[in-house]
Amino acid sequence: MDMKTAAKKLSLKDKYKLFTRDLGWEPTYRSHEEVFPYVQYEGIKIHDWDKWEDPFRLTMDAYWKYQAEKERKFYAIIDAHAQNNGHLNITDARYLSALKVFLQAISPAEYSAHKGFARVGREFPGVGTQVACQMQAIDEIRHAQTQIHALSNYNKFYNGFHAFAEHRDRIWYTSVARSFFDDAMSAGPFEFMIAIGFSFEYVLTNLLFVPFMSGAAYNGDMATVTFGFSAQSDEARHMTLGLECIKFMLEQDPDNLPIVQAWIDKWFWRGIRVLSLVSTMMDYMLPKRVMSWREAWNIYGIENGTALFKDLARYGIRAPKGWDQAEEAIDHMSHQLMLGLYQWKFGTSFHVWIPSDEDMDWLSKKYPTTFDKYYRPRWEHIKKHEAATGAPFNNFGLPKLCQCCQLPTLFTEPGDPTLTCHRESVYKGDRYHFCSDGCKDVFDNEPEKYIQAWLPMPGLMQELKGDLGAWMDWVFLKDGQDNGDFATSQDRQNFEQWRAQSTTNQ
Ligand code: FE
Ligand code: ZN
Repeated sequence: MDMKTAAKKLSLKDKYKLFTRDLGWEPTYRSHEEVFPYVQYEGIKIHDWDKWEDPFRLTMDAYWKYQAEKERKFYAIIDAHAQNNGHLNITDARYLSALKVFLQAISPAEYSAHKGFARVGREFPGVGTQVACQMQAIDEIRHAQTQIHALSNYNKFYNGFHAFAEHRDRIWYTSVARSFFDDAMSAGPFEFMIAIGFSFEYVLTNLLFVPFMSGAAYNGDMATVTFGFSAQSDEARHMTLGLECIKFMLEQDPDNLPIVQAWIDKWFWRGIRVLSLVSTMMDYMLPKRVMSWREAWNIYGIENGTALFKDLARYGIRAPKGWDQAEEAIDHMSHQLMLGLYQWKFGTSFHVWIPSDEDMDWLSKKYPTTFDKYYRPRWEHIKKHEAATGAPFNNFGLPKLCQCCQLPTLFTEPGDPTLTCHRESVYKGDRYHFCSDGCKDVFDNEPEKYIQAWLPMPGLMQELKGDLGAWMDWVFLKDGQDNGDFATSQDRQNFEQWRAQSTTNQ
């Protein structure tokens, strides 16, 4: 008879060790340098990979269990949302613009983050790092999938959701997010970790997700709230990974400090430019607003950022170089970009509108020093022009794009909000244009990289000879359906009609 022995119960720490670090080995047929060819060339010096502390003692089996539980809840709610016409519970159809921008610009970014983490998980030698990156790679693809699934229900009823992947690659306002992630994915593994793990996840993600998810809750969108919760619960792990990585680099060798600082400067500024899209969503696109972009910045930018950089000061890290310019720009960026989106609304796969008098009063309360002085007059001018001509105010002049962030150069000079900011650099005989000092700095540090960037406007002029109709076909934009003013849109008409059917006896 076999003797029954009670299996020795492993402590969490031992179990974790067996499931992670013990899976690694030292290569013998090939040199370390051959197996991990990319960890050297960025100049980061690491002496002891075992010093990498994994802040989350999470084993793969536990990981799958937690995530599966979240998936079950998520899909149950998505199902209920679809079956109960949850799309008719939103405040009104203007809210859909925020969702479209999110799906076109941000969900593909989640997918890029997945690809990036899968790659750096392979490129970093430390086992702790590899496991953490592997988990985040899986998280990120799950985020992309759950977002696409949640929003696919809206795609059955409304325009503009149908070609988010093509929009991400080809349309102009998504380029700011695409170029951010393309830049990160084509960087070395350490820079990728600063770009995504630190700047995006740690410094900026709260400014994107918290306002967006509360925006969804305020506007009755259960589907989005649910994917938001599901993704946010991974976020603590992602933020810790980013912070852990930066501290690890700084503790390993003092020579790493200037490299890391330059990356922080770069990725902070690139992040601010991506957030300009979020600022328009918060200040202009939500029918029921949560807080202004300025208020969100005060909480998640200034409060959290100040505490973070105070903490990192002991390593010699200072606040990002563009911090003061960003702080000044906060009171302007949503208005400046929204006026751009409005003027070029024939080229957007979402609808825009002139803010109502009530909206404008809200904006002037939230932006007491800037809105009435600089931006209300521009909206009033557009309104008057439309009333006088009976036609929408469109600007068919194509904007000059920034070679770095790829947005139109529509932001203004530090210190003078009436003057558009332009910067230039000449490299190998060609002249390149920028929207800001921050973007010019990024280019000047690595011109060979950015001269290769594909920009959407030169694409339209060179490849399509300026033919707007051909461009719309190419970006999968249906003129008169996906684009233009909300007031006359099919989305508005349909939503109001369906809602009336479900709430009245008509
Ligand atoms: Fe994510
Ligand atoms: Zn720029």
